Amino acid sequence: MIQYEPVIGLEVHAQLLTKSKIFCADPTTFGDPPNTNISPVSLGHPGVLPVLNKQAVEYTLRMGLATHCVIRPVSLFARKHYFYPDLPKGYQISQYDEPLCYNGWIEIELDPKGDASQTKRIGITRIHLEEDAGKSIHDLDIDTLVDLNRAGVPLIEIVSEPDIHSAQEAVAYLSQIRQILLYLGICDGNMEEGSLRCDANISVRPRGTTIFGTKTEVKNMNSFRNVEKAIEYEIQRQIDILESGGTIVQETRGWDANSQTTKPQRSKEQAHDYRYFPEPDLPPIRVSQQWLDSIRATLPELALDRKRRFVRDFGLPGYDASVLTQEQDIAQFFEDTCSYLREQTKERFKLVSNWIMTEVLRILSERKISIRELNLAPQHVAELIELFASEVISSKVAKEIFPDVLQGKSPKQIVEDKGLAQVSDTSFILDIVERILHNNPDEVQRYRGGKTNLLGFFVGQALKETKGKANPKVVTQILQERLNA
Ligand code: ADP
Ligand code: MG
Repeated sequence: MIQYEPVIGLEVHAQLLTKSKIFCADPTTFGDPPNTNISPVSLGHPGVLPVLNKQAVEYTLRMGLATHCVIRPVSLFARKHYFYPDLPKGYQISQYDEPLCYNGWIEIELDPKGDASQTKRIGITRIHLEEDAGKSIHDLDIDTLVDLNRAGVPLIEIVSEPDIHSAQEAVAYLSQIRQILLYLGICDGNMEEGSLRCDANISVRPRGTTIFGTKTEVKNMNSFRNVEKAIEYEIQRQIDILESGGTIVQETRGWDANSQTTKPQRSKEQAHDYRYFPEPDLPPIRVSQQWLDSIRATLPELALDRKRRFVRDFGLPGYDASVLTQEQDIAQFFEDTCSYLREQTKERFKLVSNWIMTEVLRILSERKISIRELNLAPQHVAELIELFASEVISSKVAKEIFPDVLQGKSPKQIVEDKGLAQVSDTSFILDIVERILHNNPDEVQRYRGGKTNLLGFFVGQALKETKGKANPKVVTQILQERLNA
């Protein structure tokens, strides 16, 4: 039986986080009442002229530099024509054969839970700048409604080389692209709201061969899960056709989440002739070396590099490093907390990681807020970690006082005020141990007769006597010494 190799290239559209649209001053806010963020320019009235938003170009350049692209010093806008109710001008202003950025690459992780040492390069064919179209709303059976708030929101299209060979790699690529966009602060990455969208070009070929098979393009996947399922489905559909002696038809297909299948939308014969031509109303975009250098100087460390650094410098497991670098603010919070630790050891760093991954992230997801909104001081988390790492309090007490820490109180102060510090004073503990042994002669006899699992009983009694403040390690040690005497 022939083994097939999938070949996949992704086209990703990302809405840029500029305050105003790409060619006019309309706001870009999502979710406003329909047709309120519009003007003669975004409505495409005759006689209006577009004026380019410099910030949109700068954001595109940020993405181009972060993905190792060549930046074109002079690039052009072009008109791409098609007729659809949500495209008022009858053409979209886009870029055609001279996009702003081209020939780049990004790294994807082959094992996202690993330590980021296993990566693969995926080529970036091009990144170009264009305007978004409006939105057609078809929920009403009677009519299609058009909302033009989105018309003219700046978009970048990021086209990959066909270097992707499985649905999992496609997801890894998409999540890396999303992560880069988020770290650069140029897109909110929200797939449900459509600010990040992805089309997948898919073909299969016999493993070991180099010629590409006929591809289909799958659209309409609005989550990572759907991207994965749609690609898996489409790969299998193509293999089944080839196995039964058929041929693949080049066409655009749509993912249908209800039936969990892809369905034909339009074939090659129905493909649009976009009649591209240079946009006469906009001058070429000129990018000086100086401008590019100033943008390059503001690029942040990207997520994958930060993850690698967390593994290398803080000794974190790959999984922890992944979780902590998902969001820049969380990663920064981790680093800030670690910087306040008196003892700079890998053991302590791991305790900080545990605390953030469990206690902090849980509260953030419960309250649906960001770490900034939580108003928690990294100094206080560092203090809390040191208190239980040095056994001044138990981790149980640490969890109990955390709500107070979230009110802005210092953990040391709370422990002092409430008298929660563990007692390691041996003479004090020895007294309690003596009393417990004296009050439980039967248990002592049974312990000495071989029932050593009664140790837990004695430890429990002693901790109860001290209301949980006695250091359990010291208690256990003294008990053992006395019982075995
Ligand atoms: P089109 O002319 O149909 O738009 P492009 O050559 O512009 O095709 O490529 C669009 C996307 O499809 C790119 O991401 C590219 O990597 C990918 N692609 C091209 N050929 C194939 C193929 N045979 N199989 C899978 N993906 C492909
Ligand atoms: Mg194309």
